[in-house]
Amino acid sequence: MYERRKRLLREIKNQCKLLSVAVLIQSKAKQFNVEDLQMSARGKSGALAKAILAMPDEINIFEQAVILASSYRQADIELKLINPFKTSSNHYDCGGKWRRSLGNWDLCQCTFCEAEVNTHFNAALHIRDGGVLA
Ligand SMILES: [Zn+2]
Repeated sequence: MYERRKRLLREIKNQCKLLSVAVLIQSKAKQFNVEDLQMSARGKSGALAKAILAMPDEINIFEQAVILASSYRQADIELKLINPFKTSSNHYDCGGKWRRSLGNWDLCQCTFCEAEVNTHFNAALHIRDGGVLA
């Protein structure tokens, strides 16, 4: 069981790298923004801790992706680490916070504008723009 899990994780990380390379090549992006997730899951609530531990936090995956895509495109792509502060809890459109229902971290309603928001897409918009503090 442990070996199978380890193999699956390695494959997921490899696919993550290859997907990143494909996106960097097709999008012709000059910069690749990645959340700096060198943080601990300690003290976080159950679902958030699980999410943090499941994310590909090994920055070398993205460093390798940038090197491969830069080489293929013969252009320098910058890897930029983004502060993850509030990227998942701050509504991109209005700055409001989420009204969360227990166990649901994917879709939330904004307490300020009442919009229903996909929290992952919302976080991606913040990361694209350099983080909430940018
Ligand atoms: Zn809102």
